[in-house]
Amino acid sequence: MSILTKNSITGYQMPALGYTASALEPVISKATIEYHYGKHLQTYIDNLNKLIEGSEYEKLTLREIVRQAPEGPLLNNAGQVLNHTLYFEQFTPFAPANNRPEGALSSAIRFDFGNFDTLKKKMEETAGALFGSGWVWLAQNEGGKLDIVRCHNGDNPIRRGLTPLYGIDVWEHAYYLDYQNRRAEHVKQLWNIVDWEMIESRMDI
Ligand code: MN
Repeated sequence: MSILTKNSITGYQMPALGYTASALEPVISKATIEYHYGKHLQTYIDNLNKLIEGSEYEKLTLREIVRQAPEGPLLNNAGQVLNHTLYFEQFTPFAPANNRPEGALSSAIRFDFGNFDTLKKKMEETAGALFGSGWVWLAQNEGGKLDIVRCHNGDNPIRRGLTPLYGIDVWEHAYYLDYQNRRAEHVKQLWNIVDWEMIESRMDI
């Protein structure tokens, strides 16, 4: 998580975006990036900084806070800072036409799901079935096995000892400006902008 930094005086800083706000169009619009990154993530970061100020959590890393915080405002905001930092870092405007994982990640997907199309279908179904707000993750367990994990609200797979690899945000704020109620179409379009090298770099291999 190289793009998230913490300043000892002002706390967590907004992670830098690796692309301009309009660079992911038409999959994700400039307006959605401006609200989702510019306003929603900024609010989670501001809340997290307020909640940890002067507390025992100030000395912990973000991942330690997400693992240890009890359910409530601190977990909600720390979890969403971690979720969104991973989320905005995992897309690229430079994905090739037939965008798909390669190398060790491709091998692991074949081993655990049979093929990439099956993984996509299962993640799309899981995202479609998640009621309310939350996330669907491709995650890896300690033994290296890949699995699809549902998380409600601001939860993250690291609370279950799993490594989050690729996350789909199914909160309505992630897609409503561009797709209104068509969540399934949004989730399908995202495959076109996934930075699979970034996802593979999150694996333990
Ligand atoms: Mn979001």
